[in-house]
Amino acid sequence: MSQSVSDGGVLEMARRQLDQAADRLGLDEGARKVLKQPQRVLMVSFPIKMDDGRMEVFTGYRVQHNFARGPSKGGLRYHPLVTLDEVTALSMWMTWKCAVVDIPFGGAKGGVVCNPKELSVGELERLTRRFTSEIGIIIGPEKDIPAPDVYTNPQVMAWIMDTFSMNKGYSIPAVVTGKPIEMGGSHGRLEATGRGCVYTIQDAAARLGMELKGARAVVQGFGNVGQAAAKALAELGVKIIALADSNGGIFAIDGLDLAAVLAHKDQTGSVTGMPGTESMSSSEILELECEILVPSALENQIRGDNAGRIRAKLIAEGANGPTTPEADEILLKKGVTVIPDILANAGGVIVSYFEWVQGIQHFFWTEEEVNAQLRRRMTASFDVVYSTKEREGCDMRTAAYLVALKRVSEAMQLRGLYP
Ligand code: NAP
Repeated sequence: MSQSVSDGGVLEMARRQLDQAADRLGLDEGARKVLKQPQRVLMVSFPIKMDDGRMEVFTGYRVQHNFARGPSKGGLRYHPLVTLDEVTALSMWMTWKCAVVDIPFGGAKGGVVCNPKELSVGELERLTRRFTSEIGIIIGPEKDIPAPDVYTNPQVMAWIMDTFSMNKGYSIPAVVTGKPIEMGGSHGRLEATGRGCVYTIQDAAARLGMELKGARAVVQGFGNVGQAAAKALAELGVKIIALADSNGGIFAIDGLDLAAVLAHKDQTGSVTGMPGTESMSSSEILELECEILVPSALENQIRGDNAGRIRAKLIAEGANGPTTPEADEILLKKGVTVIPDILANAGGVIVSYFEWVQGIQHFFWTEEEVNAQLRRRMTASFDVVYSTKEREGCDMRTAAYLVALKRVSEAMQLRGLYP
């Protein structure tokens, strides 16, 4: 199973990123104190009847970081290494992400400590339904709206919507986003994060004078985000030379045939062992010579100890938190452009916002409308961040934080302190 950050490192990292931007912005101490803590944390332990008749107890979390700009929004992760610190850091990043792309949400995140690959469909459904009932007291279309994240998918969202609706007595599609289209999901949501990430790569390439046709890309993580990003890059003529999933990586100097890799993964469960490719570890592919690197798996992949060996010119963070602050410093000195997670992977939450709006209005958009609006918002957000970077003479992460932090702190100030 994959490496995650199972200690407090990732929360410390999120707070350090906040401090750096807060220093630059001259944010007052009070606001800083508020933003370092989540507003609300719910931890639940709940029993599930397993298929063999045993009872198992699972632990789950829902963390709501900040509501200053609206109801909170963020994914739900099923992974054996989920911790409260990890979910809290992810909820903070959601606050900045929603602010940087200017959608009216605060940040939240949830997780259940489990290995979904070892659960049957029935066990997964029971776990999801019971967890939904447990957190049902703090979620809802006007309160907090979950969405898919690592190892959760549209089916899990459908169970959440159904359970929440059953408990209330009527259908409430807008309680969750990333649902199947057949029951109130939005066209374009499945691919939105990867597609949005590639829009930011296009915008960055235009500024850097980088030709995308024929450029080489490496994508770590071949799930929802990694697959959609790889496909969108390939459509632009980018050569995908390496991919990795939780079992390891594959490399082909002349480029991979994505359809064949997908078929191989469908058949075997992994990209590894793909005929005609060289095997590599998931961390080795990060160090390959390429123009574009898209980490799309988990946190803490590019660190102080390997950042010096990164040879990509442009990194677009499909994943949340793949680069540590130590690595950021090294990459900046090396002249590597990093499009930060809170901007690069915001396409998912943008289309989740569109799905929420459609659900509330019971009026649905075409895929063309969704994609056009996504493109417009991604590019507008990229432009604001890029011009802030130029003006401030900083890297793009700091610039994105400056934009986000200013919006969140202004909303907090205008609302004032209650009581
Ligand atoms: P996903 O569909 O569950 O896919 C996760 C992928 O990462 C899988 O291919 C998995 O491998 C792979 N993986 C896990 N550990 C790995 C490792 N150590 N090395 C290489 N690959 C590894 O999850 P996702 O939704 O794509 O999320 C990926 C990242 O994007 C997360 O950081 C998430 O927070 C972020 N994100 C997601 C969304 C969204 O809309 N889904 C939005 C914004 C950000 P296997 O296939 O072998 O399991």
